Amino acid sequence: LAKREGKGNYQLFTYSKDISSYKKYVLDRDMRKAILNEEFELYFQPKVEPIRGQIYGAEVLIRWNHNEWGAISPSEFIPIAEENQTINLITDWVIKRVLSLLKEWKEQGFLLRTLSVNVPPIRFMRNGLVELVKEQLQINDIPAKFLELEVTESTLLRSDKIVLSKIEELKNLGIKIAIDDFGTGYASFDLLRKFHPDTLKIDQLFVQNIHHENEMDRGIISSILYLAKTLEMKVVAEGVEELHQIEFLKQQECDFIQGYLFSPPVSQSEYEHLMKIGYLKPKNKLNFKQGGI
Ligand code: C2E
Ligand code: MG
Ligand code: MG
Ligand code: MG
Repeated sequence: LAKREGKGNYQLFTYSKDISSYKKYVLDRDMRKAILNEEFELYFQPKVEPIRGQIYGAEVLIRWNHNEWGAISPSEFIPIAEENQTINLITDWVIKRVLSLLKEWKEQGFLLRTLSVNVPPIRFMRNGLVELVKEQLQINDIPAKFLELEVTESTLLRSDKIVLSKIEELKNLGIKIAIDDFGTGYASFDLLRKFHPDTLKIDQLFVQNIHHENEMDRGIISSILYLAKTLEMKVVAEGVEELHQIEFLKQQECDFIQGYLFSPPVSQSEYEHLMKIGYLKPKNKLNFKQGGI
């Protein structure tokens, strides 16, 4: 993004654009095959209750292990998948995988915790989402409350009657709805009133600006928390990287924390290990160069 928007060296700009458009072409070309070849992998980033460090659940984040380009970040391929519509196949694959995993974990005797799946606006416009969720909950015999769908404010903005009624139906099934990246989009108070989401996820932009001099962002976070409490919604703070951010969020009674300071997104086996322990402690110091994130 920085490169695309940057005002840096013009030649560097064009050069990197050529690479990225070739890469984009390859990713676009290989995407459908990748689903069949099982090149996608799910990672799990714990959401932690800040007082005792208890693991409440996790956000499911997709990775693509491409045979030519290696690990591809979702911020790179999800936009392409949205353009070529593969995103609908990918989303459905994630939902199926997540529910069969919950079943596996239940059978293995794990204490079940909520998994949150990102569902892009475009998937709501297509048929079959509600039916798929319903079917997968039934087949795997999982109570609906263990599945949460994260939607961005832009999804809600398409206050298309279809989208509204689908979210309503999903809520009626008993699954949870979270608004992702809250505060950076265009959600109005009216939308909150209409949808009454279960969870607001404060965008990392605000969280990363929590420091003592920044009255503005601290004020914004406090007001989101106040609003959420009044409307009986839970709040997750995203992108927490520093101890003083946790201190502030604890003091403001934020429900859950998600960020590198507790844990980066981890593989299935690592997450299973974390679930067995059940708790996380904030790391003393983040070192991005050595941390292997
Ligand atoms: P998101 O849903 O807002 O997910 C949070 C992103 O923030 C993740 O990036 C996560 O790794 C990153 N993050 C977590 N903690 C920290 C932190 O402390 N500091 C910083 N700097 N970043 C942190 P990731 O995994 O690269 O995903 C990026 C975006 O791609 C996601 O944003 C989401 O919009 C999309 N995405 C990921 N997986 C899926 C998926 O399965 N389906 C769809 N449709 N979109 C997905
Ligand atoms: Mg998300
Ligand atoms: Mg987010
Ligand atoms: Mg995002």
